[in-house]
Amino acid sequence: MPDLAPKLRARVLGSAAGGGLPQWNCGCPQCVRARAGDPDVPARTQPSLAVSADGTRWSLVNASPDVRDQLARFPALHPRPGTRDVPLDTVVVTNPDLDHVIGLLVLREALPYRIVSTPWVRDVLLQHNAVFRLLEPAWGVAKLDQPIALDRAGQLEARLFPVPGKVPTWAAKLAANHAEATAGVRVTDLRTGRRLVYAPGIKALDPGTLAELEAADLVFADGTFFHADELARLRPGAPDAHEMGHAPIAGARGTLQHLAGLRGRVFYTHLNNTNPAHDAGSEAAAAIRRAGVGIATDGLELEL
Ligand SMILES: [Zn+2]
Ligand SMILES: [Zn+2]
Repeated sequence: MPDLAPKLRARVLGSAAGGGLPQWNCGCPQCVRARAGDPDVPARTQPSLAVSADGTRWSLVNASPDVRDQLARFPALHPRPGTRDVPLDTVVVTNPDLDHVIGLLVLREALPYRIVSTPWVRDVLLQHNAVFRLLEPAWGVAKLDQPIALDRAGQLEARLFPVPGKVPTWAAKLAANHAEATAGVRVTDLRTGRRLVYAPGIKALDPGTLAELEAADLVFADGTFFHADELARLRPGAPDAHEMGHAPIAGARGTLQHLAGLRGRVFYTHLNNTNPAHDAGSEAAAAIRRAGVGIATDGLELEL
């Protein structure tokens, strides 16, 4: 019997943090290996996820600076031949970090889709950044926990939930932190009740965030840094992971110990170029695998 149960589909468009791997200005051993095509250190583009109820129409969570190439590599999101009809319904934005929103400017032609963020995120981008105002006609808002119909058939619902985070560096002088500043997104397949959670910025796993992850069947979690002091190891005096708004994977305050116990399938994504887990042969990657957690790669497709 063919499996006819409806399925939520997800495709990882980009699995690195801002800058990608290799990062354009970085000659560290890991970036050198990725640039050379070393199969143990796959190149990763900047962070974004695509979701679909049927494999024909899609929505995105965040739009990275690499979105043009990410869509070029994904035939399901190509325009229909002879038309400018692109099967893209909604782009949900979790926070105003540049690696999550620059792609909206890349997708500016005609705006045949909707953008949805919290009011705080929309306001900080549109009020202080004139170039983003050209997106205003397409930009709707949803408060935290307000349902967002992702697709026209109403099969997938998204809700933004608050996650401990930080105001991006570019906005730090413009706006104070706010509950709406950093969100994760829960996508629910209303046909089956199955849930996917995508949270690329988790400064700390507070009880609310942990409850969202525990209730999900598929989790993509913040894997920016493996070690809390990863940046300081390269550049003495650099801020630690928590100060950057990303709890590390390892260590006493790390996320791996919590993600290892979740009931759903779990992947780290949004890996910074400094994260040793980029190297499949590293002890860091092995520790993640031993905990039963995956490491997302670009183009990874999953069904739920
Ligand atoms: Zn990011
Ligand atoms: Zn590097």
